Amino acid sequence: MRMHASSSGYKGILIDEEGIRHGILVDGKFEESRTEYDEYVFTPTFFNAHTHLGDAIGKDPPFKDLKSLVAPGGYKFKVLSSYSVEELRNAVIHEIKIAKASGTSAFLDFRESGIEGLRVTQGIEGVITLGRPNSVEDAEKIDCMGFGMSSTRDHEFELLCEIRKIAKKRRLIFAIHAGEMDCGDVEKALELKPDLLVHMNSCPELLKGFIDLGIPIVSCIRSNAFFGLLNSKAYGILSEYEKWLLGTDNAMLFNPSMLEEMHFASIVVRRDLEVFKACVRGFRLFDVPRGYVVFHREGNLRNSRNLVSSIVRRASLMDIEYIQQVTEKFIY
Ligand SMILES: [Zn+2]
Repeated sequence: MRMHASSSGYKGILIDEEGIRHGILVDGKFEESRTEYDEYVFTPTFFNAHTHLGDAIGKDPPFKDLKSLVAPGGYKFKVLSSYSVEELRNAVIHEIKIAKASGTSAFLDFRESGIEGLRVTQGIEGVITLGRPNSVEDAEKIDCMGFGMSSTRDHEFELLCEIRKIAKKRRLIFAIHAGEMDCGDVEKALELKPDLLVHMNSCPELLKGFIDLGIPIVSCIRSNAFFGLLNSKAYGILSEYEKWLLGTDNAMLFNPSMLEEMHFASIVVRRDLEVFKACVRGFRLFDVPRGYVVFHREGNLRNSRNLVSSIVRRASLMDIEYIQQVTEKFIY
């Protein structure tokens, strides 16, 4: 992979949320042209809308069910408690490096362990940290982009309502998990009117309430598969939703690269353009700067009859010619 664009730039096809255009990528900017260049293929960098990066230190646990692996008090929390903040942070930095090399530039991360937990990811470029306050006092003073709560099953509802109010007052994002295992935690989640909802794979029947309110919803399809919770019906509804996003969930299970998430999602969802859009629209929804990925056409993209499908289904690290990193620094 070359580290710098040649001075004349890259000539090719840009695929983004708005469609397909031809032009030149030069000095970090795309200039549209009438000439139908097609030497390279450009996409925005990818937006990972749901991670728990902090558990990257315990990669590849045994196959277990959702509760025994990641619920509070389960396997994951036991593993994590034996490491220092420094060790967790180094594992996150390592994992992010892998994901950035394959084009993912932003990570909406749900941090656990209260205010103390923020030290694991805060200040790492590209990570948008949502903290998890343990109390009203925490919520008033925690210094991050927003709150990333577990399910309504795992917190006292009264506390969640207070934290929700504080998020609004402080203009922070309020995000929560729901509908991962069943519909049991969904109605209360809807009552909170979150700014972002994660999962809903096991509760397609209640999706409409969130969609009508325009609340962005994130699916984590590989994670659902790991736990035996895939649900094509839910993804089918979500893929038609203009605020659908994708994420990779626990870094313990999967690296946070959206390129790999897309490959898997393609086969499950069977709508490649929608899968692609779900990996890039987060920049616009959360007002985060994006870069560009430049793919050459000598490897997996050669002989493609549909470039969107080829990127979504098979593009890999070997196909990346260059990554135009985000030019504006953004640290949350
Ligand atoms: Zn999660």
